[in-house]
Amino acid sequence: MILTFKVKHGSNFSVELRKAKQIAEFALKTRSLSSRSAKQFGLKSTITNQILRKYSRNKRLRKIGSVKLTIPSKSIIVDGKDLLWIPCLKLSLPITFRKDFSKVNQVELDNEYAYVSITVPEPELRQVSSWIGVDRNATGHIAVISHPVSGKVWKLGKKTHHIHKKYTAIRKGLQVTRRYRKIKTIKNRESRIVRDINHRVSRKIVDIAEQTNSGIKLEQLGGIRKSRKRGRRFNGLLHSWSFYQLQSFLEYKARLAGIPIAFVEPRNTSKECSRCGSEGTRTGKRFVCPQGHVDHADVNAGFNIAMRPSIGQSITDRDVLEGSTDTPDGATL
Ligand SMILES: [Zn+2]
Repeated sequence: MILTFKVKHGSNFSVELRKAKQIAEFALKTRSLSSRSAKQFGLKSTITNQILRKYSRNKRLRKIGSVKLTIPSKSIIVDGKDLLWIPCLKLSLPITFRKDFSKVNQVELDNEYAYVSITVPEPELRQVSSWIGVDRNATGHIAVISHPVSGKVWKLGKKTHHIHKKYTAIRKGLQVTRRYRKIKTIKNRESRIVRDINHRVSRKIVDIAEQTNSGIKLEQLGGIRKSRKRGRRFNGLLHSWSFYQLQSFLEYKARLAGIPIAFVEPRNTSKECSRCGSEGTRTGKRFVCPQGHVDHADVNAGFNIAMRPSIGQSITDRDVLEGSTDTPDGATL
């Protein structure tokens, strides 16, 4: 599988980055794919080529944001066990991340960081003896984990909802006074906090799966979006964004640990009683079964998710990280 690591490079590439942006603008205008046509910008042809490929072919792009320097695999030398050497930039990067890679796919650079994409061997999927169910929610805990075999429950990530509420309130205040730059800063701060929570919660879920020798079952999100649950549980852009992020973190962490992930049909996971299958009623976080069984609503849903037959295993379907630099740094793995 492909992983991307963020490494501080300690060099100043502001001149090169400025040229890169000019080349990207040139690419958007001319749709040229030949590095000779962009020679006048004075960037090394191996990097120029990458920029032209990326921006000349992108038909949907109208405006250029920040442009990174992309160095392809063939222009990177693995120098022993500890260094990557990039001759066209005279840059050497310490290998501070895992060293068991079979290939360096590419390195992207901004003025502070290098994003090193490597291919690492994928562990074989474990033979698991049970499943845990992960119930995701917009209110209360973002993930409630249920393990039917032992009857154990874990409630994780309580703060997200409050953080979102708090920052939404702050943003509303700023909107009134039209302080748009400040709004952006605050949005970024909230994203960082939520991202950090998602990293920790997904790590914890994988730990629980390891401890219980279980696979991980989740509701199929595509189905959730269409279903009536949307109103209650998946309100708001931040939430759906945050759910997808939690899922992608969970997918790669599980994959690195060889833990299978399976998806289940999301219909009625919060309406059915996990003990007898009757249709019960849910009021807030309280679930009441007509047969008398009362449970925490998310816990009940978690048990249902864990016990449902899977409708697909994502783990072999695709590379969750492919082509993305929005991926873990060393500290989070
Ligand atoms: Zn019941």
